[in-house]
Amino acid sequence: MRVRFAPSPTGALHIGGARTALFNWLMARHEGEDGTLVLRIEDTDRERSTPENVAQILDALQWLELDWDEGPISQISRSDRHQEVLAQLLDDGHAYRSTATADDVRAYKARHGADRGFRGTAEGEGAIRLRVPDDGASVVRDVIRGDTTFQHVHLDDAVIARGDGTALYNFAVAVDDHDAGITHVVRGEDHLSNTPKQLLVYEALGAAPPVFAHLPLLHGPDGKKLSKRHGAASVQELRDAGYLPAAVRNYLALLGWGDADDETLIPTAELVRRFDIARVSRNPAQFDEVKLRWMNGRYLRELSTDELTAQLERFTGRTGLRDAVEISREKVQTLADFWPLAGFIFDGPADDAAAREKWLGEAGQAVLADVRSALAQVDPYELAPIEAALRGVVEARGAKPKDVFQPVRVALAGVPVSPGIFETLAVLGRDESLARIDRAIGQTG
Ligand code: GLU
Repeated sequence: MRVRFAPSPTGALHIGGARTALFNWLMARHEGEDGTLVLRIEDTDRERSTPENVAQILDALQWLELDWDEGPISQISRSDRHQEVLAQLLDDGHAYRSTATADDVRAYKARHGADRGFRGTAEGEGAIRLRVPDDGASVVRDVIRGDTTFQHVHLDDAVIARGDGTALYNFAVAVDDHDAGITHVVRGEDHLSNTPKQLLVYEALGAAPPVFAHLPLLHGPDGKKLSKRHGAASVQELRDAGYLPAAVRNYLALLGWGDADDETLIPTAELVRRFDIARVSRNPAQFDEVKLRWMNGRYLRELSTDELTAQLERFTGRTGLRDAVEISREKVQTLADFWPLAGFIFDGPADDAAAREKWLGEAGQAVLADVRSALAQVDPYELAPIEAALRGVVEARGAKPKDVFQPVRVALAGVPVSPGIFETLAVLGRDESLARIDRAIGQTG
C-alpha cells in the first residue's frame, strides 16, 4: 500500500488536514513494512505557497508525531515531467489548446443549457484543456461513499494547464499520484467533485486509477462546517492551547471512525493495529473541543508527575514547577490550564478587586487573623497539621469551611480559585504563606 498526504502550503495545517494526514499515516503504519506514506507539497499556486507555510505544515506534522517515508516532494519540482505528459496529451488528442475564457464558457452554457459541459475548439494556443468525451460516465469508486457516477455530458473540458504551460491541480495530482505508484488516495470530501476529472487524466495516460476514500467533512458541535468560530482551528493552535499530540491523534482518529462507539481512549499503537478505512462513516463528523479537552485531561493524568512537570516546564518556559504540578494535576485538562491555576505560587497573588471585596471584608479579616495565629504555631509545617489547624479555626468560629478557606485562598492567590488550600499552604511554606496573609490583612476590597 502506498498512500500520500498532499497539502497545499497556502496557510497553516488545519484540523481537517491533520485528520487527513493522520488517516493516511494510520493506513500506512497498519500495513507495517508494506505501507509507505509519501508527503507531497502541492505548491503550484506560486502566490500563496510560501516557504513559511511549508515549514509550518512540516512542523505541525512533526508535533503530531506523524512521520512520512518519502518526500517532502515539491510539486513544482516536477514541472518538467508535467510538461512531458502535457505534450503527450496534446499530441495524441486527449488535450487541446484553447483561448476560451470564463465568459465563453458562460455563453456556451447559455446556448446549450446550464448543465451541459463546456466543449471548446482546438486553436493551437491558449490554456490546455482536457478533452472530455460526450458519452459515457466516470464512476468514482470510493471505499467510504460507494460509487458516485458523473455523466461526461455534464463535465466541462477542464483546464489542466495555464497558457504558459504550468500544470493545474487536477492534472498534476493525477500525474504525481500515478508516478509515485499511489494505491490509495485518502482526502477530504471537498475533493470528490474533482475526482472524475482526475479519472479522465488517468484514462488519458492509459493508467489504472488508485482506490479513493473521501473523508466526511468536519462540523462543529452546532452542525456547521468547522471554522475558527468553533475554537482552535489549526494544529499550531491546538499545541498552543496545551493539548498533547497523543490525545489529539486519539480524538481525531475517532472522528468518523465507526469502530469505536463505546470506547474513547485508544492509544496510538492500538489505533494503528485496528485502523480500517472502510469503517469510516460517510456522515459528517463533529469536532467538539470540549470532548478533546476531556480526553486530553485523561492523557495528562496518565503521565507521571515527573513527565508532566517536564512537559509543563517546556510549555511555560519556567523551571522548578514539580511541587506546584503535584498539587494541581487533578485540576488541569490542558497544559495551558496550569499557569492560570498555579502561577500565583511563583508570581504572587493576582490582582482581583472583586475577589478582595467579596472575601476580604470585615469577616474575612477576622478569619485571616485567626488563621495566621494558628499557622504560626503549626509544627511541623506539613500538610496534615496544616489541615488540622485550618479545620480548628472553622470549628472555633462555628463557620462554614468555605468562609474560612476562601479568604485564605484570596490572600494567597488573589483569586478564589487555586489548587487545594492545604496543599497550597504547604507548597508555599510557612514564611511565604504568613507574608501573603499579612499583606491581605488590612487590604480590603
Ligand atoms: N492539495 C490538496 C489540498 O490541500 C489536496 C489534494 C489531494 O489530496 O488530492 O486540498
